[in-house]
Amino acid sequence: MKAFEHINAKSIDEASAILSGGNAVVNAGGTDLVGALRFQILNDYPKKVVNLKSIPGLDYIKEESGVLKIGAMTRLEDIAASDVVKSKYSALAQAADRTASPHIREQGTIAGNICQMNRCWYFRKPDNRFFCIRKGGNMCFAMAGDNRYHSIFGAVNACIAVNPSDTAPALVALNATIKTNKRDIPAEDFWAVAIPGSTVLEEDEIVTEIQVPAPPSGAKSAFFKTAIRKSIDFPIVNCAAMISGSDARICLNAVYNKPYRATKGEDVIKGKTINEENADAAAEAALSEANGLPGRADNPGTKYKIQIAKAMVKRAILACK
Ligand SMILES: Cc1cc2nc3c(=O)[nH]c(=O)nc-3n(C[C@H](O)[C@H](O)[C@H](O)COP(=O)(O)OP(=O)(O)OC[C@H]3O[C@@H](n4cnc5c(N)ncnc54)[C@H](O)[C@@H]3O)c2cc1C
Repeated sequence: MKAFEHINAKSIDEASAILSGGNAVVNAGGTDLVGALRFQILNDYPKKVVNLKSIPGLDYIKEESGVLKIGAMTRLEDIAASDVVKSKYSALAQAADRTASPHIREQGTIAGNICQMNRCWYFRKPDNRFFCIRKGGNMCFAMAGDNRYHSIFGAVNACIAVNPSDTAPALVALNATIKTNKRDIPAEDFWAVAIPGSTVLEEDEIVTEIQVPAPPSGAKSAFFKTAIRKSIDFPIVNCAAMISGSDARICLNAVYNKPYRATKGEDVIKGKTINEENADAAAEAALSEANGLPGRADNPGTKYKIQIAKAMVKRAILACK
């Protein structure tokens, strides 16, 4: 780890002002950031790390005027255990509950989870050994190397890393809004592709709250995830769905540079009876634009993920019955 100045911010305004000076980064639970700093995976090592834990009032779950409001610093474990989230926003509770391990959920926050960097092993290689396209280099090492956990929907500016967040697809399916110190961003528009970070946040922008509207009458939502290990692991594929009579929102993650809203699958299931046949048809449509990466003897590629993704979509739909 290199030396940096650690600042206990007292307010969002103070934290934002420090960020606007450049070469600074905010720290929430630190479960992603500290590893990135320790292993020196980035080109620009921050001179300042701004602690958000010292800002009061950013940790809460409440309902106001039918809107669920979650403070940016709310821990994943608290979201997973919340009665109101479990009963009305099931996909989010299930996603938080399936994230990482109990230790990480006790430490990691919702804002950190949606802002985390990708897990491409070339991008994450300690000491920035692979100066990849995502960092400003001129090639994607995963494209020629081992890409078994990468995109099934192609590259964005030649980068095939995927967004690894478990809560992100749940927030998209639930039609959430990400509030920052500068604006309100629909969850669907929050993630960016092919820039060093993973989000559309500006240099001095900080997530302050997540808002989730009350689900439509009769709506149900669900989240499913496939990972190599059940106990603690990033998703190979995950999927969240929210379905109410005439409406459906389905979002996959770990399949593309950012969460992938499966609108073609939504169109097939909207207004239909939820049963095996219709769920299968929606899952086929949801993945109709996926092609996956071809394998080689030493690299399975990602075509296998398409079948898993179809199963995740189908299960999420059937769970909304
Ligand atoms: C072993 C391991 C297993 C994991 N498994 C999973 C998994 O299965 N699924 C999954 O989704 N994640 C997984 N993670 C990632 C982990 O869940 C997330 O890292 C965690 O939620 C991040 O929260 P944090 O508060 O610790 O974020 P931090 O590490 O503090 O921050 C992460 C990033 O978000 C930025 N950030 C944090 N808060 C804000 C804010 N309010 N506004 C703007 N930017 C902000 C930081 O600057 C940093 O870039 C795993 C991590 C580890 C180490």
